[in-house]
Amino acid sequence: MDFQLSKEQKKRVAQAREFALAEIAPYAAQWDEEEHIPRKQIQKYADAGYFGMAFPIQYGGRGLSALDAILVIEEIARHCAISGRLIVDHNFGAAVTILNFGTEEQRQRVLPTICTGKTLMSIGMTEPNAGSALTELTTSAIEDEDDYIINGTKHWITGAGEREYTLLYARFNNVSGPKGIGAILIHRDMPGFEYAGRIPSLGVRGVQEGILKFDNMRVPKNNLVVPAGSAFGNLMSAYNGQRVGASAVALGIAQGAFDFARDYADQREQFGHRVTDFQAIQFKLADMAIGLDAARYLIYRAAANADSAITDRYESSVAKVFASEMAIRVTSEAIQLCGAHGYSRRLPLERMFRDARCFTLAGGTAEMQRIGIAVSILGRTIPQHK
Ligand SMILES: Cc1cc2nc3c(=O)[nH]c(=O)nc-3n(C[C@H](O)[C@H](O)[C@H](O)COP(=O)(O)OP(=O)(O)OC[C@H]3O[C@@H](n4cnc5c(N)ncnc54)[C@H](O)[C@@H]3O)c2cc1C
Repeated sequence: MDFQLSKEQKKRVAQAREFALAEIAPYAAQWDEEEHIPRKQIQKYADAGYFGMAFPIQYGGRGLSALDAILVIEEIARHCAISGRLIVDHNFGAAVTILNFGTEEQRQRVLPTICTGKTLMSIGMTEPNAGSALTELTTSAIEDEDDYIINGTKHWITGAGEREYTLLYARFNNVSGPKGIGAILIHRDMPGFEYAGRIPSLGVRGVQEGILKFDNMRVPKNNLVVPAGSAFGNLMSAYNGQRVGASAVALGIAQGAFDFARDYADQREQFGHRVTDFQAIQFKLADMAIGLDAARYLIYRAAANADSAITDRYESSVAKVFASEMAIRVTSEAIQLCGAHGYSRRLPLERMFRDARCFTLAGGTAEMQRIGIAVSILGRTIPQHK
């Protein structure tokens, strides 16, 4: 087992750091304040080669490993969580499902446009009455000659209305239970697609979460990516990779907060001493560093073992639970280390604290991840219904 990054990986991390310091860090607070990141900024991420990093070259990707992509994401997220999330969504999200389970025609049609930033993609799973209980989703897709007719509502969709494509999870031909669920690619220009507004949120404000409604939306059958009745694991693969990506963003946020707080505390004096001279503060720093290191290696393990950017369910869930809970603790402690100053909106810590809060929810809650981990430990399914 090799715990060292390769020379190329170190170089890529250094380049990402330089890019983040020049192109992202100065504007992160502004995007949070304005609750919007401009499309021309997102284009810079595609132009820098940060979309589809682990996709094969033939589809416009760079043929790098999932770990390579994770290293870049971690570095970017140290300065801006939403930029990290955008890069995750275009390396690990729905596009990976198309890469692995879509048709050749779909791969050639869609993936190069994702890698160049010409189109962006959302995942449309969650519904008002189907969150953790995803298998209860009711958005319907009914076969009609060469099309499916889609009706229903999705909410909490990241990038809703702003992104061209959504990989939509729907119930096909009224078949009940998990066997009825499939995934189909939709475009916001399709008649019957409606962006029904934004859901204001605590953190990660620069990228919106919103509501999508479908009213007799006609989608050609050749947009079907994962047919109903396929292995449910194929359907959920978008979230497996997403989990590791999200964990890397949580880690990046926490590392950014730690760096800031350590530097502040090391120069702040009280009682005639630097506050880092007090053992209570040293112990806080040590505990924060332990959390960061542990999360980092859990995430790297899941990424290093990923196959075609699909990560192992157990490893990705372990990484996500630990990193997301660690990020909440570390960003909160970072505020504590900086005293009232840390609580001020003039420092980036309150933004980092708000941003970190989403990761025990988005992409599957920490409770549901723990259930998934228990399933692996026990080697049997654990039905959640009464
Ligand atoms: C910032 C953000 C971005 C998101 N982006 C997307 C997106 O792009 N696409 C998308 O489809 N969805 C997205 N989501 C939705 C997210 O996937 C859901 O919020 C999540 O799956 C939980 O569903 P819920 O909010 O309905 O909570 P619920 O399922 O209602 O859960 C409420 C609480 O009950 C707990 N709970 C539920 N069932 C059990 C059980 N069996 N055992 C123990 N505890 C249980 C949950 O863990 C939670 O604590 C996003 C959410 C957030 C916050």
